Amino acid sequence: MKRDVYLILREFIQNELRICEDLLLSGDYAALFKALDKLRAEARKSGLWNFTLPAEYEGHGLSYAEFAPLSEILGWSPLGHYVCNVQAPDIGNMELLLHHGTDEQQHRWLAPLASGEIRSCFAMTEPENAGSNPTLMGTKAELKNGKWIINGRKWFTTGADGAGVVIVMAVTDPDAPKHCRASMFIVSADNPGFRIIRNIPVMGDAGSGWLSHGEVEFVNCTVDESAIIGKPGDGFVLAQERLGPGRIHHGMRWIGIAERALSMTCKRALIRKISPNTVLADNDAFQSKVAESRADIEAVRALMLSTASFLDSGSMKSGRSRISLIKFLASDMLMKVLDFAIQTHGALGVTDDTILSFFYRHERGARIYDGPDEVHMMVVAREELKKYRS
Ligand SMILES: Cc1cc2nc3c(=O)[nH]c(=O)nc-3n(C[C@H](O)[C@H](O)[C@H](O)COP(=O)(O)OP(=O)(O)OC[C@H]3O[C@@H](n4cnc5c(N)ncnc54)[C@H](O)[C@@H]3O)c2cc1C
Repeated sequence: MKRDVYLILREFIQNELRICEDLLLSGDYAALFKALDKLRAEARKSGLWNFTLPAEYEGHGLSYAEFAPLSEILGWSPLGHYVCNVQAPDIGNMELLLHHGTDEQQHRWLAPLASGEIRSCFAMTEPENAGSNPTLMGTKAELKNGKWIINGRKWFTTGADGAGVVIVMAVTDPDAPKHCRASMFIVSADNPGFRIIRNIPVMGDAGSGWLSHGEVEFVNCTVDESAIIGKPGDGFVLAQERLGPGRIHHGMRWIGIAERALSMTCKRALIRKISPNTVLADNDAFQSKVAESRADIEAVRALMLSTASFLDSGSMKSGRSRISLIKFLASDMLMKVLDFAIQTHGALGVTDDTILSFFYRHERGARIYDGPDEVHMMVVAREELKKYRS
């Protein structure tokens, strides 16, 4: 992609999306979704669309490292990724179908997702079982007379409300070694065996549409044998392939949020008088925190780009520990930079008059979704200790 695209995208995010952000912050979701539909159509027409998909799906075939700087720019707005059809969970689901879907699955599901005609969701986590260890999964799928019958309950299925298709993980062979027990299935959202029980009221989320998180149920949900992705037992391998790049996509988005928060911090401190002759920006302690924020962002960006390049070289499995490392480092950086930005704004920081409080509420989940910090730390520590075990 030409360098111009970075500039066009920056302008698009900074100008066009600001109006939509006001609608988001004021809770006017009907107007917001209408405005977003218009912007999505414009973005698609201008080629600001599906950056990581190949040209046959209106994309640019960018590698993870090439997409990273764009994802960062998009991250400046909570709406950036959605407008360009690269929002989670759809981007992960589209990449999954691109790499592992059959021709039929790609034709039926990937094509309408890539055109933006439908949205999707990914249902793995369950209310009754620890999502940090998905091998404990309770949802089951049984093959009977050439049909898979799925039963179980999931929650935190992001974007389930209004999605056209659900990708669900279910146990297909409870007696297999634990990482070969589960499989992934594609279920049309209008399947009579699938139901959204409720939209979970999650802090920072709009409660409906693509910004929602559903609790969902599969009751004798029957799909064709061909609805499986890959082979029976491939579920965990596919989940790792899907979630690994997803963590990079999220991480770059978080860097964009952190950059915006730091820029708001500096601008505010330069005008906020804390004595007759000084502004907050003159304060030594404040300056140290600015330097720390800048250092944290740069360190995470450098590591994120090197991890993205590592994944581009096809080393998904051997990159697991690197992905875990960058996931907890990036979410921690984000929360620290956001907290400093809010502190700098004083009481204004905890109002909804700036976007900081939205980001703070919305992104607190970063330390939990796609695996909580503790689990990623465990992966890194195990890898480190392995070097010294006899
Ligand atoms: C905003 C948001 C969106 C999400 N979207 C989706 C989605 O689209 N699809 C989907 O399937 N899931 C989704 N999730 C679910 C998410 O992936 C899970 O919440 C996550 O994997 C943790 O599982 P859990 O909530 O069951 O926590 P639990 O497994 O119950 O863990 C609770 C806490 O225990 C601690 N802990 C757990 N394991 C260990 C350990 N080994 N060592 C030390 N401490 C530990 C951690 O502090 C952890 O936060 C989403 C979650 C959020 C918050």
